[in-house]
Amino acid sequence: KSEPPLLELKGVYAGYGQAKVLHDLNLTVRKGEVVAILGANGAGKTTLAHVVSGSVRPTAGHVIVGGRDMVGRPPHEITAAGIAHCMEGRRIFPSLSVEENLIMAARGVPVREQQQRLDRVYTLFGVLKDRRQSPGTSMSGGQQQMLAIGRALMSAPRLVIFDEISLGLAPIMMDHVYEALARLKAEGLTMLIVEQDVDRALALAHTAHVLDKGRIDLSGTAESVRTDARLKHLYFGTT
Ligand code: ATP
Repeated sequence: KSEPPLLELKGVYAGYGQAKVLHDLNLTVRKGEVVAILGANGAGKTTLAHVVSGSVRPTAGHVIVGGRDMVGRPPHEITAAGIAHCMEGRRIFPSLSVEENLIMAARGVPVREQQQRLDRVYTLFGVLKDRRQSPGTSMSGGQQQMLAIGRALMSAPRLVIFDEISLGLAPIMMDHVYEALARLKAEGLTMLIVEQDVDRALALAHTAHVLDKGRIDLSGTAESVRTDARLKHLYFGTT
C-alpha cells in the first residue's frame, strides 16, 4: 500500500470575515517534492500558508497531513504532525542568542538530538555557527532569515513552508538562502515555497501552482509553468 501524500488540500475555501480569499483550492505535496506557490500581490499565497499551518481556519474543505484531516486543529498540533512554517524572518527572540533561538525551536528534545540538529543547521549556515553567541537581533536581515530557516529545521519537520523568505533581501543574500534551499532539496526535504520571485522559485521547485484571486489558475511542472504564456498574464494582467 502506498503512503498517503504528506499534504493534501481538498476544496479549501478561506477568508477573513466577509473577505473571501481562497476558493476551492486543491493541491498535493508528496514526500521529497518541492512545490512553489506563485501569484501576484494579494492573490492569497500567504493565506494559503496560514491555512496549512493552522493559523487561518478554512471555511470549507480539508487540509490533510499524512492522511489525517487537520482542519480545526491548533497550530502546535500541526507542528507536531511535522509541518514547520518559516515566515519573513520574524519570531526571533531578541533577548536570546542565535543558539538559544535555535534550541528554543527544539524544546523537549533530548540534548544529543538537539545537538545533531544544531550541527545540521550550522553545516548549512556557517555564519550562524560563527555568531552563535550573538543576540538574534544583532544579525543582518539576511542572517536573520537564515536563523528563521534554522529554527524551522530544528523541529525536524517533514514539510517546511517557506513564506516569502527572499522578501527584502539583497541579491547576494538571496543567493545564499536559495543555495541552502537547494541543499535541503538534495537531502530530500519536502518544501512548500510561497514566493514573489518567480524565477528563483521555479528554478528550485519540481512543481508549481499559480494563484489568481484565490484560485489556482495554472499548475504543472516548474518547467511547464515557466514556459506557459498564461504566467505573464497572471502577473501583469491580461490585455
Ligand atoms: P502578498 O504577496 O501581498 O502578501 P498574498 O498573495 O500573500 O499577497 P494574502 O496575504 O494571502 O495574499 O492576501 C489575500 C487577500 O486577503 C488580500 O486581499 C488581503 O488584503 C486580504 N487579507 C490578508 N490578511 C488579512 C487579514 N488578516 N484580515 C483581512 N484581510 C486580509
